[in-house]
Amino acid sequence: MDGTRDVTELINQLKQENQELKQTCENFVSEREALEVAIAEFGNKQLQAEIECLELEQIFSSVSDAMWAIREDGIVIRANDAMLALLDKSRSEVVGQSCSDLLQYDLCHSSSCPLTVCTVKSRKEYDIQLPATDGGCEHYIISVAPLTTIVGTTAIVSQFKNITARKRAEHQLEELNRALSEMARIDGLTGIANRRFFDENFDREWKRLTREQDQPFSLILADIDFFKKYNDHYGHQQGDDCLILVGKALKEIILRPSDMAARYGGEEFALLLPGIGLAGAETVGERAREAIVNLQIPHANSDVAGHITMSLGGAMMTPTRDNSPADLIALADKALYRAKKTGRNKLSLTET
Ligand code: GH3
Ligand code: MG
Ligand code: MG
Repeated sequence: MDGTRDVTELINQLKQENQELKQTCENFVSEREALEVAIAEFGNKQLQAEIECLELEQIFSSVSDAMWAIREDGIVIRANDAMLALLDKSRSEVVGQSCSDLLQYDLCHSSSCPLTVCTVKSRKEYDIQLPATDGGCEHYIISVAPLTTIVGTTAIVSQFKNITARKRAEHQLEELNRALSEMARIDGLTGIANRRFFDENFDREWKRLTREQDQPFSLILADIDFFKKYNDHYGHQQGDDCLILVGKALKEIILRPSDMAARYGGEEFALLLPGIGLAGAETVGERAREAIVNLQIPHANSDVAGHITMSLGGAMMTPTRDNSPADLIALADKALYRAKKTGRNKLSLTET
């Protein structure tokens, strides 16, 4: 009896173990399936990551601005095609090399170099110049930003935007504007200051001397004698040539930078002498009169001499809040009238 019970128990135990084994097997199968799914998913993700990496590489390479990434020790770890073109080198000549050996930049090896990795904490932009292959120089805006590499070390990525064409256009525009404002201030015929420039300067200097207080300001108005007769006799074209010579001569006798010779209008000229008293004005006026005589431009119909002469009227005032450039012009005009009335080819002076 006992033997039969033992066999039954053994069978039951075997059945139980068989059941458990079956369960374990089933578990293994389902775990293997789960593992296979996980492996497949991982494989997919890896492929996806590789594709994305390739895409990024392509984007990086196709950016028209030159870009490179630099490690903390200054070694280039990546460079796009535009950067290779900028350096005129192949990838193998750039990647793995020190950036300072590749870029001939004035600040290389100095502490103020914008590409010094440890100093780049946030994105910054710099205006720099680099030597061009033709011997000239190219202008760039470089932007530098911090970067953490795939292995967790510090690096930077920097982008070079070539702005040479824009800089050249800006420079040309500045030149044109300068030429334009010069043209607006220069008399088209004689090449000396025009009436507009004279007025501006007169006003500015008057205000300056008013502020400085008790400073003399002299003005000389000069008028070519019998110029209508000159034109009538020699023709308008020759009249123009004469005005050019007179303008040039008057400009040459002006020696101080703050003084000015200007074409006041027609055959009239003005000499602006800020800070100059009447004695100084007399010296300058007489020098001007002589300079015109010395030109010895024949004037067959002049009632004064056989050559071109000028009459000059000079006046001096002390600029204050209660007077104005117009007052000084009126005084100089009066003096000029007197010079005309009392024989011409002379300087007459008025003092207030
Ligand atoms: P005065 O000695 O009394 O000053 O007599 P004037 O003939 O010099 O003076 P007026 O004011 O009678 O004539 C000035 C002349 O200057 C008349 C005008 O044709 C001439 N003129 C003014 N501007 C120009 C110019 O740009 N070119 C030429 N060629 N002549 C000019
Ligand atoms: Mg006149
Ligand atoms: Mg005249």
